[in-house]
Amino acid sequence: MNRPRSAELFERAQRVIPGGVNSPVRAFRSVGGTPVFMSRAAGPHVWGADGEQYIDYVCSWGPAILGHAVPEVLEAAREAASYGSTFGAPTEREVLFAEALTALYPSMEMVRAVSSGTEATMAALRAARGYTGRDFIVKFEGCYHGHADFLLVKAGSGAATLGAPDSAGVPESVARATLTCAFNDAAALSVLFEEVGPRIAAVIVEPCVGNMGLVPADPGFLEHIIALCKQHGAVSIFDEVMTGCRVHASGVQGRLGLTPDMTTLGKVIGGGFPLAAYGGKSAIMSCIAPLGPVYQAGTLSGNPVAVAAGLQTLAMLTPAVYDRLEALSAQLEQGLCEAIAETGVTARVQRMGSMLTLFFNGSKVRNWADANTTHREQFALFHRSLLDAGIYWPPAAFEAAFVSAAHTPELVRATIDAAGTALRHVASSSSPSRA
Ligand code: PLP
Repeated sequence: MNRPRSAELFERAQRVIPGGVNSPVRAFRSVGGTPVFMSRAAGPHVWGADGEQYIDYVCSWGPAILGHAVPEVLEAAREAASYGSTFGAPTEREVLFAEALTALYPSMEMVRAVSSGTEATMAALRAARGYTGRDFIVKFEGCYHGHADFLLVKAGSGAATLGAPDSAGVPESVARATLTCAFNDAAALSVLFEEVGPRIAAVIVEPCVGNMGLVPADPGFLEHIIALCKQHGAVSIFDEVMTGCRVHASGVQGRLGLTPDMTTLGKVIGGGFPLAAYGGKSAIMSCIAPLGPVYQAGTLSGNPVAVAAGLQTLAMLTPAVYDRLEALSAQLEQGLCEAIAETGVTARVQRMGSMLTLFFNGSKVRNWADANTTHREQFALFHRSLLDAGIYWPPAAFEAAFVSAAHTPELVRATIDAAGTALRHVASSSSPSRA
């Protein structure tokens, strides 16, 4: 499909913005072609700069859980803005927001609002280091926690290795304090704690990974993390920036009945505005300035417009909305599985709530090593075919697709039909190569 306006904008953008985009995945590098420049969005749809309409499964990478341009959320933001868009002083809404989050997440006895998920994880880890007086943090290969220097680290081969930077510009000395393990490898984590337990400040985990595609934790893995942290005096942190208020009102921890020491949130809680939060046990959060010695601040933290949109979104996330999300997502999963079976393509669907990934993999994906064997070229073909059929699917193989409550069974049906056609293209393509 020709998208001349998007093509022209992309050409201009590349002259003045690195790669033409303000966040790398938007550049379509892994699926090829020109990214679609968006002009508007409403409900389950987005429209490209050439006027073409898509059913949206990116949902701004998670925030648009109720769909786009939700009138009540926009009205709340508009009303808040009319009283002044920022004060640099506390407001009543921030109290309501903190009360709402601490009610939903018992792991957050106290909570701080920040402006992005990156800030939330960075600040949570600083708090954990300040609280424990230790330096090492542990993360899992394939989990993404934002772009703070010490979080841009992945594991090498082997069960657990000392960190090496994953991005240029991250000093080795910073990366060395980040230890990595394979996701779902409880034994490797135990070994790590046996070796350097007294130096570990925190373990941070996406309790259901969205950032290597959708990969749930094996039964018992998260419990193991919490128990090891407790035993060794380290802080367990569930990064629920993506899953929080998305897979359940109280995130993965709410679904599973788990209580980590700290939690980070973002995306959904901001109702489409720049808002995130981190929180945890009072003893840990009391280390944060002005109560304690761990410094963290923000000019726009708890911004009144963003908080108003977030509060309104939280108020609209009723049990009926989660039931609807579950039904629509189950319909999508089932339809995709049937299309996979009919076409004989080697692929599988992994889902939790309204997040799912279609992996071009033969067997279950439990960690990054598994995810990394996905057939990238087949995914690119699948993506292009969907895009041409008016379906805006995440433009990278290792991402989750998101369903919103504004989607309908009819739109999901249309998506399944388009996916069937896309999978037939994949089946008839002659490219056998992987990676
Ligand atoms: N943590 C997780 C689990 C995420 O998925 C993301 C972003 O996708 C982040 C942190 C970073 O959030 P932000 O992009 O708002 O900085």
